[in-house]
Amino acid sequence: MAKIGFLGLGEMGTPMATRLRRAGHELTVWNRSAERTVPLANEGAAVASSPAKAADGADFVITMLATPEALEQVLFGSDGVATGLSPGQILIDMSTVGPDEVRSAAGRLPEGTTLVDAPVRGSVPQATSGSLEVFVGATDANYDRVRPILELLGTVRHTGGPGSGAAMKLVANLVLGAAVVTLGEALALGDSLDLERDLVLDALADSPIGPIVKAKRANVESGDFTPSFKLRHAAKDLRLVTEAAAARRRELKQANANRAWLDDAASRGAADLDFSVVVSTIRGEKS
Ligand code: NAP
Repeated sequence: MAKIGFLGLGEMGTPMATRLRRAGHELTVWNRSAERTVPLANEGAAVASSPAKAADGADFVITMLATPEALEQVLFGSDGVATGLSPGQILIDMSTVGPDEVRSAAGRLPEGTTLVDAPVRGSVPQATSGSLEVFVGATDANYDRVRPILELLGTVRHTGGPGSGAAMKLVANLVLGAAVVTLGEALALGDSLDLERDLVLDALADSPIGPIVKAKRANVESGDFTPSFKLRHAAKDLRLVTEAAAARRRELKQANANRAWLDDAASRGAADLDFSVVVSTIRGEKS
């Protein structure tokens, strides 16, 4: 059994860390808001008082944090992970932060330590049941080392060398952003053409955006947008998508338009609701 430090016990981190603990690994957790460590402590995890202490002596250190800025603070802030890492240790970042942040952070870690990027597709139900899709950017040797740990969380895909997992996640979330905005615009058009919402949703369930219709139909119908995947994170992801493309002089007109819809919804006070709330914004409903 491995010694694992796990940092970031949000919607995703808590069920993921719980699975690792229940598989028998020796787990030390850290979270910025200390009260979120209680469920893991009840599972038998140790609670560290700083990121550096969570990393100290661990075989693997896993981060599951909100944004590139959060990752920077946890790795390189005072008492950060970087000060607790020693040669031979592997840091596995599972947050969605993009390849530029991953490669920049990797270059600033202590000599002899390794960063593997392993962001995930899937949400809270998949994190709970261990059926996430994990995109792993690593050398072959490092992939072999992290794979047994990551397989406890879902299906593991080796996407290429370091940074490629973070890159693949941006590709995946470009599509997710497009799908949810398309759902909103299709329903808005249906409203304008006096179609019945149920019938439109039935038709869309059999269309190319069928998976998102099936996943989010209950939210749209009930108006309950309790978050699984917060709008603020979906908006952050499209920021990362469009910035990564712009830095490489690639024009993504549709991703920019989708980003504008998510930002619009967030600016109306919906940032901490589920990202599917953008459908309400597009339809002109109050969230
Ligand atoms: P979340 O519930 O908002 O949790 C975010 C975590 O980051 C919390 O532990 C939070 O600590 C921490 N954090 C935020 N800012 C910080 C800072 N400045 N310093 C230290 N810690 C900070 O987010 P989540 O849904 O678990 O998502 C985590 C990551 O996975 C994100 O990158 C997201 O895009 C990605 N993701 C999410 C989903 C999903 O469906 N939810 C699916 C795939 C990927 P506090 O508790 O103190 O706020």
